Amino acid sequence: MRVLVINSGSSSIKYQLLDPDTGAVAASGQVSRIGEPVAPGTPSVEHDSDGHTLEHHGAIKDHAAGLRVVFDLFARSGHDLTAEGLRAVGHRVVHGGEVFYAPTLITDAVVRSIDELSALAPLHNPANVVGIESARALLPGVPQVAVFDTAFFHGLPDAAKTYAIDAKVAAAHGIRRYGFHGTSHEYVSGRVADVLGRKPEELNQIVLHLGNGASASAIRAGRAVDTSMGLTPLEGLVMGTRSGDIDPGIIPHLMRTAGLGIDAIDDLLNRNSGIKGLSGVNDFRELQGLIDSGDTAARLAYDVYIHRLRHYIGAYLVELGRVDAITFTAGVGENSPQVRADALADLSGFGITVDPDRNTAKDRAARLISPRGAQIPVLVVPTNEELAIARAAAALVA
Ligand code: ADP
Repeated sequence: MRVLVINSGSSSIKYQLLDPDTGAVAASGQVSRIGEPVAPGTPSVEHDSDGHTLEHHGAIKDHAAGLRVVFDLFARSGHDLTAEGLRAVGHRVVHGGEVFYAPTLITDAVVRSIDELSALAPLHNPANVVGIESARALLPGVPQVAVFDTAFFHGLPDAAKTYAIDAKVAAAHGIRRYGFHGTSHEYVSGRVADVLGRKPEELNQIVLHLGNGASASAIRAGRAVDTSMGLTPLEGLVMGTRSGDIDPGIIPHLMRTAGLGIDAIDDLLNRNSGIKGLSGVNDFRELQGLIDSGDTAARLAYDVYIHRLRHYIGAYLVELGRVDAITFTAGVGENSPQVRADALADLSGFGITVDPDRNTAKDRAARLISPRGAQIPVLVVPTNEELAIARAAAALVA
């Protein structure tokens, strides 16, 4: 029996129908540009099933309409979701705040709580709620489970989760480090233990999730002890369009000197900064193309990206004291040998080296890229948040 995993964003829904025991994916797809016009010839829904792609053309009014189209495409490709006897629907929910720290069976009260946390994640939680409501309406008999991006970091030590601002202000507004990408950091660190033939409790790990969004985590004996994202997914590493760490004084400075309002600043830091702000492109492949053509702005963007990444690796080496594995994951981490080599260059004094042949091998599997017998194993592990969510949902309803 399968699990349907739904990840609804502000204008998109990504989904997968998979077997949580084997990981086999029966179908997957994406609804794009929800609530926006779609150009003729551009599909608004792409659905992959058994090696075939089905498309839907035409604008999608809202998330409920999007899911109805998806259910229809499932039926056309031989999967009637209402009759399939799904084990559960697993929903990715971005912010669990202080309230949620484990996969949670969805009830009306849970939906209300997720909605109330929208102040902490205004772009994400409202979209998650709409996705949950739509799926509950279409599959009334199937248990629905929320899996939170913040959950793995819920137990961060006080020193790591506390911002040094007025404690009363922080308490009144829920201001602390929550961390994100938790499902990925937890899944990947578990896979590292498998690859090394050890138990997660025996390992201290640094995990570098480098996708469009990017975050680093320090994990001691299976528990997260630090992470680079904070109250929101804006803090930390340089990302595709997000600035990561900046001097917070830049914000009042821009308000005073450039006359920018709060929405313009939010937009600047979340959508027009990072790699895109420095180079004009946010996709790492395009960035590499620009660098190869001699573009100096692209070169600087890359150098800033690597500089900040090394900064966090150094911090977490000291924080953990003993490190048993450093792992790269997500789009850039899994696919860019250059980033991996540069992030860990000249660290042999710390027992960290990357083997050039292993690093550049065309291999999709979880694998070591440090030389045989290296003091600190370095790995590439493909993340699989959908499988982790499906397993969490299936385990909860079992
Ligand atoms: P998201 O955060 O949207 O899930 P992904 O984990 O899919 O992001 O990562 C997207 C990023 O991975 C993009 O910047 C993309 O350019 C980069 N990427 C994908 N394939 C490659 C590749 N072969 N080489 C370098 N970067 C890649």
